[in-house]
Amino acid sequence: MRLPGPRHAPGARHRARETVDAAPAAHPAAHHAAPTRRPGALAAGAGALGVAVLLAGAAAALTAATIGAPPDVDRAAAARLAAASRPSPPPLVSSPTPAVAACELPGVVEALSAGDDEAALIAMGGAAAVREAVITGGAPCIDLADPTRLWVVVDKLRPYEPLGHEPADLTRVDGVRVFNEGLLRAEAAAAFAELVAAAQEAGAGQIAITSGYRSFDDQATQHARWVAAEGADSADEVSARPGYSEHQSGLAVDVVACDGACGDIARFASTRQGRWLAENSWRHGFIVRYEQGQAGTTGYSPEPWHIRYLGVVLAAAYHGGGFHTLEDFWGLPAAPDYGD
Ligand SMILES: [Zn+2]
Repeated sequence: MRLPGPRHAPGARHRARETVDAAPAAHPAAHHAAPTRRPGALAAGAGALGVAVLLAGAAAALTAATIGAPPDVDRAAAARLAAASRPSPPPLVSSPTPAVAACELPGVVEALSAGDDEAALIAMGGAAAVREAVITGGAPCIDLADPTRLWVVVDKLRPYEPLGHEPADLTRVDGVRVFNEGLLRAEAAAAFAELVAAAQEAGAGQIAITSGYRSFDDQATQHARWVAAEGADSADEVSARPGYSEHQSGLAVDVVACDGACGDIARFASTRQGRWLAENSWRHGFIVRYEQGQAGTTGYSPEPWHIRYLGVVLAAAYHGGGFHTLEDFWGLPAAPDYGD
């Protein structure tokens, strides 16, 4: 999600696409295996297995029939095989899952009420365990719609609740060059300052902020500008509607590479800063939110300059698991378009 105007002229996004296409090495998780399949996919797979067993039973019956066995006997055998292959019914008495119990652990309750999201994740057994529990519906205390939490997911199907949400702890980022809007939530601001310092220390050059927090009203202005410049459909590929932008969380930041002068975000992927960020942002709790080839899930064209703060606990699990979208990480539906 970026700004229209001279620095981010609408025509520039076509150049950005070319740059991204030409630089597969800069793709962040290219070295990792494909992400774990979503539970929906697993359930579908299990269903397909059941169907395959039934079909095998029917095929066995058919084969027996063609070699001359009495058809009634074959049908009975096929029915027995089909019945045997059906999954057993769920137990009538259910017991609470360990994850629900995890939400009730004193350390978890305490961390959540103190607003220490990372401590809560650790107390629940770590990000991978929490992810699993959320996907299976066993972690009611991890609300992916809560915009005050590091695990909030905002996309075209998941607007803010309320739509005009404003973070409480916005702050400036110390020691980092800023163009346009430079505020982030306090924890993200501190982590981002560390990220910028680490990039410099690694010899990757200077990284500056072109856009951090944007309010609902800021986003309305930005989006309207894109719609006026490119039409509504094209605007929706590159700019979120107000109430749907990650920038409104105070946890997202658009960056540019500076070597003396600062470059255009459209060319960020091919800079040494862009390559470093794709490989290392997770170490500081950030992920590249809109990767190449993921628009069918995220709803946005690739934005190698847009990073989202999750905290190190979640970002390490995301990176280590080889994920490319937050929707896949949390088992949420793809959000290529708005629901209307
Ligand atoms: Zn952005």
